[in-house]
Amino acid sequence: MTASRRPVDVLVIGGGQAGLAAGYYLRRAKADFVILDAQERPGGAWQHAWPSLRLFSPAQFSSLPGRMMPIPPSGGYPSASDTVAYLADYEQRYDLPVIRPTRVRAVRRDGEHLVVETDAGAWQARIVISATGTWWRPYIPYYPGIRDFQGQQLHTADYRGAEPFQGRRVVVVGGANSAAQILAELSIVADTTWTTLRPPRLLPDEVDGRALFELATRKARAADAESIGDLGDIVAVPPVREARDRGVLKAEPMFTRITPEGVAWPDGTSLTCDAIIWCTGFRPALGHLTPLRLRNRTGIIPTQGTRAVGEPRLHLLGYGDWTGPASATLIGASRTARETVAEIVKQL
Ligand code: FAD
Repeated sequence: MTASRRPVDVLVIGGGQAGLAAGYYLRRAKADFVILDAQERPGGAWQHAWPSLRLFSPAQFSSLPGRMMPIPPSGGYPSASDTVAYLADYEQRYDLPVIRPTRVRAVRRDGEHLVVETDAGAWQARIVISATGTWWRPYIPYYPGIRDFQGQQLHTADYRGAEPFQGRRVVVVGGANSAAQILAELSIVADTTWTTLRPPRLLPDEVDGRALFELATRKARAADAESIGDLGDIVAVPPVREARDRGVLKAEPMFTRITPEGVAWPDGTSLTCDAIIWCTGFRPALGHLTPLRLRNRTGIIPTQGTRAVGEPRLHLLGYGDWTGPASATLIGASRTARETVAEIVKQL
């Protein structure tokens, strides 16, 4: 570990959309801050997504504060690479002080400060905002036999496109947007089976990410969130609509066992397959906060707003609705960041 760098008031860990939204408001508040990001290049997790991924909202509803995402030349919903280009331009336009590649290894308490240890020295900060996302912790549920499967298994995070699965038999697992989008394109070239824990719920064509954001906001404000129903899980972006119209978006119940050749259900039915694609989500990437001992049994850090209950000098941005309604989305990052920075300014 090299010598400590100068102390800063606010240190943001993560230069994806959540970290940049925080940077925008910190800049406006004339705060003394830096953003440390582990990636070589701008764009956060979007630079690792499969190329055909489409956002579930049009550009005007997928924007960070201050600058609208440009509508893609092809029209329609922006792709992952459109989003990377937008975020790269965003941090340049607002001259955000992103230092990369710098990986934060640990955050520790040290008297009045938090010490942030990185692979390139340590920083001292009065306030830390952790905005490290989830992409870096793909989640695959355990099923008996999972280690014996002789075909290929991969997670959404490793999926790059349908081409390698041409002519193969593929099981796609998961009932949300990633599974539906991947299934939509795979089903054109491969023999696909879709398995989900509960029947997949496709949103009506006119409903997109904006409606989901508004719903998340209403739920967060309601005294009884359960009283506000869900709209559904899967946004009918054009490739998903097209797959629905081809009749391929029909899901089987979850299998209960994996065999060396495929998957099996409790009624004795089984299916031979060449690959299983786990579109089963991600967990928050919070390993660097382990020394603070803040996580509860469900793996999250309890927060009030975005402030960690057990460490008032730490804020968490993004990750999921538990840090603010839709805070892990492009449209939702803005409001959570604005409220967080307003609170930090008072704290300083
Ligand atoms: P990230 O983009 O993951 O950025 C976090 C940054 O922190 C990364 O650059 C990472 O390298 C860095 N980092 C991590 N750990 C460390 C460390 N220890 N030290 C330093 N840096 C670190 N949202 C939408 O609004 N619309 C969509 O259509 C949409 N589609 C999605 C599709 C998929 C498949 C997924 C997984 C998510 C989707 N989301 C969508 C949700 C969300 O917008 C993305 O997950 C987004 O990338 C979250 O941004 P973030 O800034 O929170 O995290």
